[in-house]
Amino acid sequence: MRAKLFVVSLAAIVLAVGIAHTYLSRTLEGMLAQRIEDDLSVRAGLVARDVAAAPLTSSVAGWHALADELGRSAHVRVTIIDRGGQVLGDSDVSPDQLASIDNHAARPEVQGALSTGRGVATRYSTTVRARMLYVAAPFSQGGAVRGVVRVALPLVEIEKAESQLNHALFWGSAIALVVASLMSAVSAEMASRTARRLTEVARAMARGDFTARAQSAGGDELALLGRALDQLAESLSRTLDKLRAERDFVGRIVNGMQEGVLLTGNDGKVVLLNSALRQMLLLGADARGKSPADVVSNEEIAALIHDASAKGHTASAEIELSGLKPRRLLVRAVPLLDEPRGVLAVFVDVTEIRRLETLRRDFVANASHELRTPVTAVRSAAETLRGAAASDPEAAAHFIDIIERNAERLQRLVEDLLDLSRIEAREFRLSFEDVDLHAFAAQMFTLFRDRAEKKRIRLQNEVPRDLELALADRRALEQILTNLVDNALKYSPEGAEISVGAVREAGVLRVFVRDTGPGIEQRHLPRLFERFYRVDTGRSRELGGTGLGLSIVKHLVEALGGMIGVESATGKGTTFAFTLPIWREDQQFDDDDDDEG
Ligand code: ADP
Repeated sequence: MRAKLFVVSLAAIVLAVGIAHTYLSRTLEGMLAQRIEDDLSVRAGLVARDVAAAPLTSSVAGWHALADELGRSAHVRVTIIDRGGQVLGDSDVSPDQLASIDNHAARPEVQGALSTGRGVATRYSTTVRARMLYVAAPFSQGGAVRGVVRVALPLVEIEKAESQLNHALFWGSAIALVVASLMSAVSAEMASRTARRLTEVARAMARGDFTARAQSAGGDELALLGRALDQLAESLSRTLDKLRAERDFVGRIVNGMQEGVLLTGNDGKVVLLNSALRQMLLLGADARGKSPADVVSNEEIAALIHDASAKGHTASAEIELSGLKPRRLLVRAVPLLDEPRGVLAVFVDVTEIRRLETLRRDFVANASHELRTPVTAVRSAAETLRGAAASDPEAAAHFIDIIERNAERLQRLVEDLLDLSRIEAREFRLSFEDVDLHAFAAQMFTLFRDRAEKKRIRLQNEVPRDLELALADRRALEQILTNLVDNALKYSPEGAEISVGAVREAGVLRVFVRDTGPGIEQRHLPRLFERFYRVDTGRSRELGGTGLGLSIVKHLVEALGGMIGVESATGKGTTFAFTLPIWREDQQFDDDDDDEG
């Protein structure tokens, strides 16, 4: 661009200087010629006046001396010619040569001077052997035109002046040309530099860098273009920032979702996959650009996504995942029909929901079953009683006994169920306080003393007197220990031993209830804390058990911030142990039961 600009402006400059040069040299030459002619005319006039004023002479020497003197003072060749054309004197011709000079009457300048008062001619002079410019003017003596005075200048001198003029003009033009070329080169460089800067800015913008600015000053077209480019960069950068913010916002929402999200693009490859899905399917971070089948490595899911994309309608299914993290996922694949096309698959982890559903179903079935048994017993006993009451008072007493026992069992069941539901609904208000476990166990034993004595069972308080205080809710702790000691009493044979103890262990207190009873088979231990789970249903019923006791215990221990476990083996007795937090002097009591699980 710089070269082009320079060449074009150079051509313009050369043309302009050429035209100016030609015009100037023509005009100036003409002017010069005119000036020289005018100058000669003035000199001729002055010389004519001097000749008229000179004293009259008739000698050849006199005329010659006059012509010579005037020629010297006027710096020209002066020729004095009389009316008849005879040359009287000439500054450039010696007197003895005068005789050989032709008559000048026919010379145009002489004729012009005599007829119009001024004659001009250009011609080769044989006398001085040079081309001359002649200007003649008449002169008078004694009141009449006596002759003509002619001044002449060699054309060589005029040409010399002209050549000087041309010389000056040439150099002037050359200097103008050089200066103009320099200026044009500089301005071409400046223009091209601006253009280069604009190009750099445009390239930077194309690369996605919108921080580059042309920062053009001035009011020319390039500056305007630069400013327009800056505005474009500004507005593009703003738009881009806005788009980025929107994308980040959407990205944050998608990543913050609990549901897994997978999005495929036009080419069927994964373009987006959120962190929830990564966790659900235990995926790595490099899923983008792969096919969904490669990413999820599950045929059913891949087929679902493929279906949605191929058939163009929503496909959904509940899919069971085995492996390291078994899960049940509800997958819904929706085809995106607008450009860019693709499939949006949303994964909802329903493992917990399904587990809870099963639990609830089982619970309802178990509870109904548990309730039906005593109700049936009560009904049939009541019916039999109706017939036997009058005739057989002994049998009647037996049936009333059955009714009473079953009613009691129903009451226990209902109470246990209510307890459980209250604890689970967190309606069980806990108020934490410091509990001396030794004193607590001792006080509790008083409640069981009679029953224990009946079975000749020894109750032992193994809680050290100097043990740290526990942080617990007294009512909950009482129910926990009551249930555990009650079970131990129920299931242990006569002469057994039951001890309640506690030890400090890794920042918590570990409380245990141990018996030397029959023990529990290993295979039952994992399910022992489940609702309605019993090792021997018949025996439990017979002893008035509901199958809910340990479940209540587990919930309460957890509500107190502890954990429970059981150790047992057949014939070796059973030990239930749970942890409790240690009470601290600076303890902050938080009575809000909502925080307790
Ligand atoms: P239940 O009302 O039947 O006692 P629990 O939930 O309290 O229900 O106990 C569940 C089952 O655990 C009982 O049926 C019993 O078989 C077993 N079990 C609980 N405690 C003991 C124990 N100390 N010794 C032996 N078996 C026990």
